[in-house]
Amino acid sequence: MIGMQRKTSFGKSLLNNNSPKAIKYMNPKTENTQSPRPKYNRNFQNSKNGSVRTFQRQGTPHTQSNNTNTIHATIKHPANSNPLHSNKIDLNRKKLNKGSYQYGSNKGNRRPKAGTPALKNTITTPRKKQSNIPHPLPGVIRIIPLGGVEEIGKNMTAIEIGNDIVVIDAGMQFKTEDTPGIDYIIPNTTYLEDNKDRVRAMLVTHGHLDHIGGIPLVMSRIGNPPLYSRNLSILLMKKRQEEFSHLPALNAHVVEKDSVIYAGEMRIRFFGVTHTFPDSMGIIIETPYGSIVTPGDYKLDQIDGKVTPEEEKEYAIFDKEKVLLLLTDSTNIENEGFSLAEVKVHEGLEKVIKQVSGRIIISAFASSITRLMKIVEIAESLGRKVILDGRSLKTNMEVCEQADIFKPKKGTIIPIDDISGYPPNKILIMMTGAQGEEFAALGRAANKTHKKFSIQPGDTIILSSSIVPGNEIAVQHLKDNLSRHGVRIVSYRTSEEYIHATGHGNQEDIKWLHRKTHPKFFIPIHGWHSMLVKHKEVAMSIGMSGDNIIVPDNGSIIEIVDEGSKMILRKEKAPSGPMMVDGFSVGDEQDVVIRDRVMLAQDGMFVLIATIDSATGKLRKSPDIISRGFIYLKENQELLHQVRLIIKKTIEDDTKGFKPMDFDTIKTDLGDNISKFLFQKTAKRPLVIPVLLSI
Ligand SMILES: [Zn+2]
Ligand SMILES: [Zn+2]
Repeated sequence: MIGMQRKTSFGKSLLNNNSPKAIKYMNPKTENTQSPRPKYNRNFQNSKNGSVRTFQRQGTPHTQSNNTNTIHATIKHPANSNPLHSNKIDLNRKKLNKGSYQYGSNKGNRRPKAGTPALKNTITTPRKKQSNIPHPLPGVIRIIPLGGVEEIGKNMTAIEIGNDIVVIDAGMQFKTEDTPGIDYIIPNTTYLEDNKDRVRAMLVTHGHLDHIGGIPLVMSRIGNPPLYSRNLSILLMKKRQEEFSHLPALNAHVVEKDSVIYAGEMRIRFFGVTHTFPDSMGIIIETPYGSIVTPGDYKLDQIDGKVTPEEEKEYAIFDKEKVLLLLTDSTNIENEGFSLAEVKVHEGLEKVIKQVSGRIIISAFASSITRLMKIVEIAESLGRKVILDGRSLKTNMEVCEQADIFKPKKGTIIPIDDISGYPPNKILIMMTGAQGEEFAALGRAANKTHKKFSIQPGDTIILSSSIVPGNEIAVQHLKDNLSRHGVRIVSYRTSEEYIHATGHGNQEDIKWLHRKTHPKFFIPIHGWHSMLVKHKEVAMSIGMSGDNIIVPDNGSIIEIVDEGSKMILRKEKAPSGPMMVDGFSVGDEQDVVIRDRVMLAQDGMFVLIATIDSATGKLRKSPDIISRGFIYLKENQELLHQVRLIIKKTIEDDTKGFKPMDFDTIKTDLGDNISKFLFQKTAKRPLVIPVLLSI
């Protein structure tokens, strides 16, 4: 069935010292004990308890005038002061939400609504200086995986020959536990921005979010080059672009699998692949030394290891192709055997659905488009009406209808409001939310907050998806909530029939592709580092020389040199830090902000306000201490007493004999000493913010 579809068209810190903005924080209510409330003068608007207190900084932090107090605020990151206990976030290496790339898997994400200001996120952070990476020499082919090789998600690879650069895919990755407050992450485009005038094309393999999620923001940063993909993917990208109305329209071109395009001097062809997204395609870039091939996401159309004739035919183009380099997916490299054929899932779902006499609710990834269309077909054959509930689901199916891939009979799809007009055995409801997303349709139905639908005893709920790592507890809560309604739950693990399969090829699919394309060189992509290493091992096990394989990191600059005879890894790297999209801003320099958020979330904050007599360098009075989310200060008077002593000693040591006083040193030392002390006493590392007032 998948084959059939293919044939239709082709199957900085929280308080920034340099910030001119006012510093705000909440007035302490319960957690602060302080020495008598300071009499703030004209530099503060000190309002009543519970309101926001604004500290207005005047002038630059280090200038003092006779009549104004000066505030010196800095943040001490304890992580910096103790390398043995580094809290530094390694955004690339920690576990990320595996399935977050699924279109419509929107757990915990603020899904931007059309026209909301949060989408106007085009403000760029100050650019670093040019990357200083020389252009490739004549005859050299340069490959830079810019994303997707240290994670699953945000796929993007650049291919550069002579004066031409083409980019393959521009995906996104949703925020993780390590990046609180971030909407999502896109690949680092600095190299491409520096070489904007040579970017000839963006080639998109298919419309899943780990391949198109970065398109709106990436395209505008790299000079909006022509965009090539197949019809369905282009329609989805255009639909997504509508949410970014302030950005230029896409310069989109539909290609088919037999299309040939030119990007500068590069000749580019395509081929169809089987995936859960219809119309997925692979890319062939011709070079004087052979072609560069990438299938994008794929699994084989096979049953019990026997590849279908349609699939064989599709890949027959490689029989005579001289493949110089293969770049391919490593997502399922750890799974042995072949992937389960989607057709088996279709059969399994049909069986399960046929056995049910009451209402059926099915939840699958909104990205599993092929399966969603099949479910509608099954419903039609049983005379059931279909209700689509959930934004991503509706959008995807609408776009499929527009693309003429999804053709439900008139009257099959009915609005949710009409549900009461049909008996239970004539109803099938497709809902988003199989990952336990609280605000998705199924989640709302389960916790009785769905305005238009309520679950009834006797309903059957089919969860036609795997559980994305990280979502286990959320899915368990969902199942518990559903169980309380007296329903029957059929899930991936409990069903005797196959009701879910991955969209990616397992080891045997991968080996088959290697043999079929017989490349000279190989670069594993799409996956965590260990998966890429495993993929290298698998390639070697079927006869490839390890010398011809490079396992890249994001930003690795790989070159094929000496007339296509050697593949090398350059010592330079393209900038590869993740670009985080955070409300209004996109940037690659937000590590400090994120680190602050992580620290605040983990151990809270600790603000100390000290008033120093500028004539004597001594404290004018006992320092004020405010904390949030750290410890209950009222019950820790002894600790506070000791903190005050440390503040006093630090300041007196630092000011002794110094004129003028060096506030930077005092702040740094206060931060260091207090952080160290608090860690020793509490084993916590709150964000320590010393604020100095000099009178
Ligand atoms: Zn995909
Ligand atoms: Zn993918």
